[in-house]
Amino acid sequence: SIVVTGATGSLGRLVIHELLDRGVPAAGIAAVVRDKEKAAPLAARGIELRIADYNVPETLAGVFRSGDRVLMISGNEIGQRVPQHSAVIDAAKEAGVAQFAYTGVLGGPEADFDLAAEHRATEELILASGLPHTFLRNGWYTENYTGNLAPVLAHGAVLSNANEGRVASAARADYAAAAAAVVTGEGHLGRAYELSGDVAWSFAEYAAAVAQATGREIAYNAVTPEAHLSVLTGAGVPAPFAEILVDVDLAIERGRLAGTSGDLSRLIGRPTTPMALTVAEAVASAG
Ligand code: NDP
Repeated sequence: SIVVTGATGSLGRLVIHELLDRGVPAAGIAAVVRDKEKAAPLAARGIELRIADYNVPETLAGVFRSGDRVLMISGNEIGQRVPQHSAVIDAAKEAGVAQFAYTGVLGGPEADFDLAAEHRATEELILASGLPHTFLRNGWYTENYTGNLAPVLAHGAVLSNANEGRVASAARADYAAAAAAVVTGEGHLGRAYELSGDVAWSFAEYAAAVAQATGREIAYNAVTPEAHLSVLTGAGVPAPFAEILVDVDLAIERGRLAGTSGDLSRLIGRPTTPMALTVAEAVASAG
């Protein structure tokens, strides 16, 4: 089977759609999920559910079978992910899976920012395990920004401490299509893909795209890391997460999320979704 972990998440759901669109029969897909209720729409489509929680290694025993092609979607509990991912890797190793594809972060071992540390450690564990692997080093989703338009519209400004740094983002669906391509195609074992959008945009350009889509004036306020941190915490973002966001912007300023290798558009066989299109869709759906 093709086995997708995190299948009830935003990326996972899109990957399942892509697999079905590519003609993979539902009976050939299994979803590893922790919440059976949330996975009911998958089961209704005929996809096999394998219930497991990354936090409980015993539940992972038996979720993979010999010969499975596994897409492991990284977890979202920052700070907990190394032991969680380690448990998934151990279970895949035990089962003897044919492929273990992992969604890491753009740059892989070169990604030197706080949020990347757990992805670097996970890639090391996968290499040490000897699993036949594929690294999907995902750059930023455009939705990381368009999912947070409310404060931009409320203040008429995009705020960042990345200065003139650029982000080669792509739509989440683009990354999902790439993941589906590597678990259905051949020649991807032992490879690392640096996945990102075709175009690296600046926050001034992002502000202009929001202005264009809304017909309003939207400024770009480049602020210091300290000022950004206090705005975020003032808006109720928990301090540890606000610090991670400020650190991400510093990484963006250093160019860490600006790489445009072309790997993503090559894998999906089309250009990546332009940032302005995702902005326009988000504005339209917000009504
Ligand atoms: P989501 O938060 O929507 O999905 C995360 C998935 O992981 C969910 O299905 C969740 O299960 C599952 N999960 C989390 N913890 C556990 C656990 N303990 N046991 C079993 N399953 C677990 O994120 P996305 O789909 O948008 O992104 C996928 C991953 O990519 C994220 O988890 C994160 O690692 C990374 N990411 C990348 C970004 C980027 O810009 N490249 C931005 C944000 C995240 P459930 O559905 O039950 O909650």
